Amino acid sequence: MAYIAAISVLVFAVIATSCAADTDLLQDICVADLASGTKVNGFVCKTNVSATDFFFDGLAKPGLTNTTSGAVVTGANVQKIPGLNTLGVSLARIDYAPGGLNPPHTHPRATEVVFVLEGQLDVGFITTGNVLISKSIKKGEIFVFPKGLVHFQKNNGKEAAAVIAAFNSQLPGTQSLAATLFAATPSVPDNVLTKAFQVGTKEIEKIKSRFAPKK
Ligand code: MN
Repeated sequence: MAYIAAISVLVFAVIATSCAADTDLLQDICVADLASGTKVNGFVCKTNVSATDFFFDGLAKPGLTNTTSGAVVTGANVQKIPGLNTLGVSLARIDYAPGGLNPPHTHPRATEVVFVLEGQLDVGFITTGNVLISKSIKKGEIFVFPKGLVHFQKNNGKEAAAVIAAFNSQLPGTQSLAATLFAATPSVPDNVLTKAFQVGTKEIEKIKSRFAPKK
C-alpha cells in the first residue's frame, strides 16, 4: 500500500508540476522594478507603487500592420505593466491586415487563448505527434493554443482582423520559428540548416538574407 501511495504522490507531483505556469506569488503585490540591475526569476519588487503600475492603454487602438508578414503583436506583459510581476498572467493584441500572417511560433512559458475582436482568421497548432489542429474563427469566437506548441494565425479575409490574446504567464516569451533559425545572432551554421531542411546552402543563404536586418 505504501508503495502505491508513494507512486500516487509522485504522479500527482509530476502532474502538478507540468500544469504549473509561472511560479505562485508569495505576497499581495510585487510591482516590477524594471530599472533594477538585480537579476532574479522575474523582477525585484519596487517600493513606491501607484495605480499607473497596474494600468496600460496600449491595446486600445489597432497596431500598425505594415510589417513584412502583415500582422503586428502588441504585448501587454510585465514589461509594459510592472504590476503584473509575479501574477502569472498577461495579454496581447494582434492586428492583421487582409492576408496578414502571425507566422508559426511558440510561447515557451504559456498557453494562449485568443478572442476575436474583428474579422476572421484561419488558426492552428501542431501537436508533438505532428498533427495539425486547425479551424476558421470569426468575431466573438475563441481558440486555444496549448503551452509550448507551434501555432499561427492567418487573415484570409478581405477586411482587417484583430484578436485579444491571454496568457498564463507574466512574460510568455515568443520564438518565431523562421526568425529563430534564420536570423539568430550569431547565425545558426548553414550545415546545420542544410541537413535539417534537406536543401542546399544556396537555399539557406537565400532565406537568411530575407531575414537579415533592413539597412
Ligand atoms: Mn501565439
